[in-house]
Amino acid sequence: MIQRIVMKRGPKPEDLTGKKFGRLTVICEANQKWGHRHWRCACQCGRQCIVAGTELKRRRTRSCGCVRREKIIHGECADPRKSREYRIWSVMKSRCSNPKATGYDYYGGKGITVCPDWRNSFVQFLSDMGRAPTKFHSIDRIDPTGGYEPSNCRWATPVEQAGNKGSSTSLRIRITRGVRASPRGNCSP
Ligand SMILES: [Zn+2]
Repeated sequence: MIQRIVMKRGPKPEDLTGKKFGRLTVICEANQKWGHRHWRCACQCGRQCIVAGTELKRRRTRSCGCVRREKIIHGECADPRKSREYRIWSVMKSRCSNPKATGYDYYGGKGITVCPDWRNSFVQFLSDMGRAPTKFHSIDRIDPTGGYEPSNCRWATPVEQAGNKGSSTSLRIRITRGVRASPRGNCSP
């Protein structure tokens, strides 16, 4: 009742329904909290959340929280030594796309590519692959002629990778090609 009187007296209440704020799209108005109007929003990531209208309009809230969560994961790039997965991801990308990268001749130069989802997002790579089980595991393409994509990749130790390539000859070839088959795996500095 009070709300109705206030709304009649004040300026026409702003309807944010359908408006976009960063990753959020407003679905409808939600119950007021602490005297402030709140809105139910759909986030691009699929979650829903309720946000104060003022937070949306001041652009202080631009996602359900997923942007922040991604940044936390992305904090791994701040110190790559701490994140083996981040290091592997960045080496994988550069040797497939940067002609100056070590090993490019045997990856990008041979037409090995990284799928777009992984190329564009370390978060996606990590969510598909999970963490390397041990520091001895590195990323292995199940079909060596195929590219880096979820269906063709696994974490494997150097021994498993050599087995996958058929024989120890392949391992030697891999070493002479400049791919480390040491416990540090494919992770060049
Ligand atoms: Zn979200």
